[in-house]
Amino acid sequence: MSESKTGMTSDDFRSLVVAMAAAIEANADRLTELDSAIGDGDHGANMKRGFQAVLGELDQLATKPVPEALKAAGMKLVMTVGGASGPLVGTLLMTLGKELPADFDRQAFVMAYEKAVDAVAARGKSHAGQKTMLDVLYPILDAMREGADPDEVAARARAAADATVPMLATRGRASFLGERSIGHMDPGAASVALLAGVVARTLQTHQGA
Ligand SMILES: [Mg+2]
Repeated sequence: MSESKTGMTSDDFRSLVVAMAAAIEANADRLTELDSAIGDGDHGANMKRGFQAVLGELDQLATKPVPEALKAAGMKLVMTVGGASGPLVGTLLMTLGKELPADFDRQAFVMAYEKAVDAVAARGKSHAGQKTMLDVLYPILDAMREGADPDEVAARARAAADATVPMLATRGRASFLGERSIGHMDPGAASVALLAGVVARTLQTHQGA
């Protein structure tokens, strides 16, 4: 994998996937608890299975340019995560990979990310404010557009996940609960915030190296 303008190398990509899979594994029980409260209790196990599958293909993925690797990882997640979140998280990565030029800078990344979030919204027939992962994906977009550094993007993602707690779910399985969905964090929002934190830490480690 050649080095892009963002300085993302094959090693960076590798570290990122390893760190994501580790964070999902470490938080799988918490994600499942969140999903048990307002869903069907499989989110942690589903995400863990998906990221372990991506991890299993890491050697092959790391030989590809970053956009191609993202597309392949997204497809793997669609095939292995299942539930409602598999196609959504997979769509995010696949679209990101499709929209990113081979040699991308920060601005190109933000533009590709915007298209990826819109693709998730279209796939889930959802929009912001329905207590879903979109309620974290859009605040991440806003923060990146404003030029926030990775740490701040991650902090805003965590705050956005916290902000799903008092929300009423109007999309997804939690919406079947109506008012009883209030008072719990959306599991998809929690996963996305967790992954944003991993991306921030990984970028910082590598930029600081
Ligand atoms: Mg579930």
